[in-house]
Order: sequence, then C-alpha cells, then structure tokens
Amino acid sequence: MEKKDLRSIVGQEMLDFLAKHKQKPFRAKQVNQWLWERGATNIRQMKNLPGTLLDVLEEAFEIPAASVQNAQTATDGTSKVAFEFHDGQLAEGVYIPSRKRVTACVSSQTGCNLNCAFCATGQLTHGRNLTAGEIFDQVVAIKNMAEEQGNRLTNIVYMGMGEPLLNYDNVLQSVDYITGKPGLEMSPSRITVSTAGIVPGIMKLADDKVRFHLAISLHSAIDETRNRLMPINKKYPLDALSEAIQYFHEKTGERITFEYLMLRGVNDSLDEAAALARFCKSFPVKINLIEYNPVEAFDLKPSTQETVNDFVQFLEKRNMIVNVRRSKGQQIDAACGQLANRNVNS
Ligand code: SF4
Repeated sequence: MEKKDLRSIVGQEMLDFLAKHKQKPFRAKQVNQWLWERGATNIRQMKNLPGTLLDVLEEAFEIPAASVQNAQTATDGTSKVAFEFHDGQLAEGVYIPSRKRVTACVSSQTGCNLNCAFCATGQLTHGRNLTAGEIFDQVVAIKNMAEEQGNRLTNIVYMGMGEPLLNYDNVLQSVDYITGKPGLEMSPSRITVSTAGIVPGIMKLADDKVRFHLAISLHSAIDETRNRLMPINKKYPLDALSEAIQYFHEKTGERITFEYLMLRGVNDSLDEAAALARFCKSFPVKINLIEYNPVEAFDLKPSTQETVNDFVQFLEKRNMIVNVRRSKGQQIDAACGQLANRNVNS
C-alpha cells in the first residue's frame, strides 16, 4: 500500500485515524507539534508517542521531507539553497542576511509556466506545485542556517521559483504553519507573498482577509510593455489588476508593494513613470525599483544610474513612496529572477 504524506493529513482525518486505532484525540496535537514546531522528518522522532501509535503511523504514512542538495554562499553573505524533493524535483530558496533583517526567500513551485521575459525560472516550464510541507521545509532549513550563524530569521518572502497564487491552498496552508500554533508562531506581518498578478487569486486573498503583505510584480503600468514582459498580462490586463488591488485594499486595509525591475530602454522612460503614477492613484502603494540582474539567455540590460534617479525623482515629486533595491546574491544567481536550479550538482 502506498504511504500517504503525514503532513497532508489535517483535522478530522487525523482524528478519524486515531479513533480507528483506539488512540486518544490529544495525540493529534502531539503529532502536529512534532511536524510543525520541531520539523520532524521521521515518524520515529516522535518520542512522546506510544510505540503502538508509532507502528500504525509508520505503516500508513511517511514524511517526504525536502533535503538540502547544495548551498552556495556569495561574498555578501547571501546563500542559495537547492532543495530536492521526494520525486527528484528541485527548487531553490535563498537566505538573505542584512543589517536590519534576515530573510528567507522560498519557492512555491518547481518551475513556472508564466514565462516572464526577464526570469530564469520561467525557462523551467515543467514544474509542479510544492506541498505546504515542502514550502515549510525551506523555511525551517533557512531558519536553521540563520541560527547556525547566530542570526534570527525575521522575514519570509514567497518570491522564489513559481507563482504562489497558482498554488493557492498549499501556500496559505504553509503560512498557517509558519504563523500558527503548533507552528513557528511568526507574525504574518513578517511575510510577503508576491504575485505576477493572478487576478482571481488576489480577489480570493481579499475574501480570505489574509494578514500577510501582498507584493505585485508590476514592471510596467502600460499594457503594451507589460504584455511583452509578462505574458500573464494578456489574460489579466492592468484594468482588471487595478480592480483586484482596489478590492484587496478595501477588504484588508493593506498597502500593496509593487516590484518594478528597471530595464534599460524597456520600462524606464518618464512616460512609463507617468503611467505608473496614474496606475497608483486608486490605492496606497509602496514601489520597490529593483536593479536588474542580467540573465545570460535574455537580451536585457539594467537601467543606468541616471535613468533610475530621474525615474525616482519623477515619482517622489508626486508624493509616492519609492525604494531603490539592489538585489543581493548576484554572484551565485540567487538574485531576483535568477533562480533556475543552476549549479545544483556543483
Ligand atoms: S517572475 Fe515569477 S511569475 Fe514570472 S516566470 Fe519568474 S517565477 Fe514565474
């Protein structure tokens, strides 16, 4: 009989299993504490459970935990971690220590079908959704890495490989395990989920009244440019995206963050800045302008410093909140848009 993933058994299903094997209901809480507080990867680690329960659990279930296949560290301290899952699929997470915070960037899928023109992950089209447990494993591994270096993990961003809102249920469940009890009990305000603009997913987040931050990879507020950079814009154009963002803001009161890669001669003109300013009129936003990290396969270049300065000035004159972000981890292809399972065997 094929064993089920113990981490996919939630609520009543676990209680039914325990009842069937004449075990007390409180054992469910103990199992969950092992899984989501202590990150157990083997049923035999659950030492406070009776042997009879361990036997039946082991017969029916397994814990297909991710393993760290490789970790590379750049001189700026950023580490890229390659995770291998039980079926041989790979995804990458990134540990990003900085003066103010220590961030784990995690993947939600093992590739991505959205094919953004600047993204190395988009080249890996045959991926699958990661389970909540597999996302959680990345967080725990990076948290441990931070602690080994005397740091404490402070922030988690779902900005690694994949589109989180196309793996909605597993992503939200993983957030529950990161923020909940039993779980890592981190504050939802420390978590950011980033989307390419999946309109129904944004509406659902609003209806679910999530408490984490939402970031949107915008990269242009002109449909023609955005269609070229992000083909998903043809399905969910800027008008629809704007409505979804307004709805999200109304329901949650949250300010959205826009991620905007500065690409030379593509989206860095003052016309683009004016379109961005217009697009941001209907809701409060923060804009992160991100330096582009060249990816070999694409003919794209970072904007010049002068252009970035002009772009920032234009937006700031219109009272917009703008940060300019330098991506960390370029040296090891761990920066934004560079995750593509390269060098996993090196
Ligand atoms: S930027 Fe995000 S959504 Fe676009 S291809 Fe890369 S991983 Fe997918």
